[in-house]
Amino acid sequence: MRVSRMAAVATAAVMALSVAACGGGEDAGSGGGGSGDGVIGKAASGKLIIGVKSDQPGLGLQTGTTYEGFDIEVGKIVAKGLGLDPAKVEWKTTVSANREPFIEQGQVDLVIATYTINDDRKKKVAFAGPYYVAGQDLLVKTDSTITGPEGLDGKKVCSVAGSTPAKRIKEEYPKVALQEFDSYSKCVTALGGGQVDAVTTDDIILAGYAAQAEYAGKFKVVGKPFSSEPYGIGLKKTDTAGCTKINEILKAAVDDGTYKAAWDATLGKGGTPAPTFDASKLSNCPA
Ligand code: GLU
Repeated sequence: MRVSRMAAVATAAVMALSVAACGGGEDAGSGGGGSGDGVIGKAASGKLIIGVKSDQPGLGLQTGTTYEGFDIEVGKIVAKGLGLDPAKVEWKTTVSANREPFIEQGQVDLVIATYTINDDRKKKVAFAGPYYVAGQDLLVKTDSTITGPEGLDGKKVCSVAGSTPAKRIKEEYPKVALQEFDSYSKCVTALGGGQVDAVTTDDIILAGYAAQAEYAGKFKVVGKPFSSEPYGIGLKKTDTAGCTKINEILKAAVDDGTYKAAWDATLGKGGTPAPTFDASKLSNCPA
């Protein structure tokens, strides 16, 4: 990771953490924790399936059968906190558009996949967290003159179906020619090939692509985040006990240094310090 780029991202993250939205959930929990249906019961039975991204360097990246990145480390912390050996976790690739259905249908027990907490998604799933706050930004070619979303009218911009950045472009920047794929790596390939003028998603995701050796010197992150994307851990909407327990696990991980260690081993490799984690924002679980 390039230190300068990552430092900018980390600064944005720290700022964003302090303004993280935390709408309250209105749904009474029913199933969940103690019932065996929730993640506490699942972990007690010896297995947990966690949905993660597979093509986002630094966050969730699959090489062969191995997944690595900050989201994977957070998943290991959660598994351990639930009393499960992290080696027993089954990692399953998710894309942005199938995260809610995967949780609702029980194809995964948890989703830890650069997953923004918002009220729309809270209608379908519950969120523990946030454990990180990103911001929507732009990835462009190094020689591009694009300096922010207001310069995108008439431009071809790539994002991912089912993501908050794609939705924001459609709603707030309707003059943009939006191209949607199912994963960001496809957008980055299109940017490299000149088929699109920019890729838009969270700054921390874009920084990971820009820092890849194969793209060295080719791309830059514009560095002006224009949203707040608090990352949550998605689980069944009814699993209030599991959600509350995961928040306790996250808080303990900050207190005992394992959150920092997870950051340092992944996104913080270039020396960027772990973001400040505000435990008072861990308030998204359904009541
Ligand atoms: N955080 C945003 C979202 O959850 C963008 C990243 C992603 O698509 O995973 O939609």
